[in-house]
Amino acid sequence: MEEKKLEKRLFGTNGVRGVAGKDLTPALVLSIGTALGSMRPGTIAVGRDTRTSGPALASALKAGLLSAGCDVVDLGVLPTPALQYLVRDHFDAGAVVTASHNPPEYNGIKVVEPDGTEMGDEQCIVLEDHIFKGTACHAPWDRVGREVAAPSMVEEYVKAVAGSFPPGTGDGRLVVADPGCGAAALTTPDILTRMGCRVFSLNSQMDGTFPGRLPEPSPEGLAPLADLVKTTGADFGVAHDGDADRAVFIDDRGRFVEENRQFGLIADFICRTQKGVVVTPVSTSRLIEVIARRHGSRVVYTAVGSIYVARTMIGLSTEGTTVAFGGEGNGGLIFPGHQLCRDGGMTAATMVALLAHARQPLSALVDALPQFFMIKEKLREKDGSGLIKRLIEVFSGDSLDLTDGIRINREDSWALVRPSGTEPLVRVMVESVSETRARELYEELMGHIRP
Ligand code: MG
Repeated sequence: MEEKKLEKRLFGTNGVRGVAGKDLTPALVLSIGTALGSMRPGTIAVGRDTRTSGPALASALKAGLLSAGCDVVDLGVLPTPALQYLVRDHFDAGAVVTASHNPPEYNGIKVVEPDGTEMGDEQCIVLEDHIFKGTACHAPWDRVGREVAAPSMVEEYVKAVAGSFPPGTGDGRLVVADPGCGAAALTTPDILTRMGCRVFSLNSQMDGTFPGRLPEPSPEGLAPLADLVKTTGADFGVAHDGDADRAVFIDDRGRFVEENRQFGLIADFICRTQKGVVVTPVSTSRLIEVIARRHGSRVVYTAVGSIYVARTMIGLSTEGTTVAFGGEGNGGLIFPGHQLCRDGGMTAATMVALLAHARQPLSALVDALPQFFMIKEKLREKDGSGLIKRLIEVFSGDSLDLTDGIRINREDSWALVRPSGTEPLVRVMVESVSETRARELYEELMGHIRP
C-alpha cells in the first residue's frame, strides 16, 4: 500500500534539479530523454515552465525522445498539473522542464507516468540505470519519432478545473492572482474568471527572469499581493510556485495563510461531503488529524514527498479504501476526484467554492481553526541514520511512527526528526497546542540530539 523511499542518484523527491548549464546541462537532459523514450515507447508530452533555460533544455529532452523513437507533442509553457492532466487522458508518458519553486538559475525535469502521476522511485532508478550504463536505445533512421506542437491543449485543463464546479460559483467574488511570472499566468486567472470571479492579477506576464518575486511563494515575496488584496478589498489573493502545482493564499485582511492551515481549511470543506481517509506526510500539522476526526475520518501518514502521498492514495484506493483528500503542508494539495497529483489551479478554484459555501470571509474561517504552534529547524549531522537509531531507543516508551525518520506522537505534541536525503543534515519539527508545550518537547528532544 505504502510507497517506500528508495535511494536514487539523479532524481530527488520531485525529479532532477540543478543549476542550468552547470548541474543540469542539455547533454544530461538529452540522456534523460533517450532513457525515458526507451522505457515508455509511444507519444510523449513535453512541457516547460517559464525559465530562461527552458527552451534549450526542452529541445534536448525532445531530441532524446525523438531519437529513441518516440513521437513528441510539445505542449509549450504550462503548469505541471496541466501536463499531468493531459498525459493521463492522451499520452503514453510526459516530462516537464521545471525547477518548481527554486530560484531562476535552476531548472529540472519531472517525469510523468501514463496515469499522470510523477514517476515513482523504482522506475526512476531504472531510468537512471539507462543513463549511467548507456543502455538507452536509439531508433534507426526510419523509426525516429515525429514532433508536433500543441500549445492550445492547456485549454482542456483550464476547462476541466473550472468545470468541476457549478457555473457561477465565483458569484462576482474579487480575487487577486499572483502567478509569479510562472506557468500559472496562462491558467489561474482564466480558471477564476470562468468560475465567475472578478480577477486582478500581478506578475502575470510569463518571464523567466522572475522580475516581480522569486518562484517560491513566500510571505515576504507576496507582500505586494497582500497590499493589493487590501487596497482592492478582494476576498482573497492566490499565488503559485513556478510550475503551479502548489497554491498559497492571502486572506481578505492581507494576511498570509500558513500552508497547514490552508490544508486544514480545504480538508474540512472536502470531508464535509466526501467520506474517506486523508493522506499526508509525517511532516504535516496535527490540525489535519483534528479536522479528519471531526468528520469521522482519519489520516494515513506517508514519507515526505508528494509522490509518496499520491502513490499511497492510489494504493489505498486499489485496496478498496475510500480516499477523500491528500496533500502536504506546503500548499501542494491533491484532489482525487480530479487527478492524483498536486494541483495549484484546482486548489485556487476550490477556495472559491469553499467561500461560496462558507458565507464567511476567509480571515474568519482561518481564525476559527484550532491553534497549533510549530518549531522547524535544520541541524548539521553527518550520521543521520545513526541518530535516528539512537532516538528510537531513547523514545521507545512513546508512540513512534518510523515512516520517514522518527515521529514521536504524544497527547498534545509531536516531534519529527528526519535525515535529509541529499545533505549532511537532519530536519527537526516539533508541534504542540501552545508555544510552551512545543518548547518543552523541543528541549527534551535536543537534550538527546546534542547531549
Ligand atoms: Mg512546484
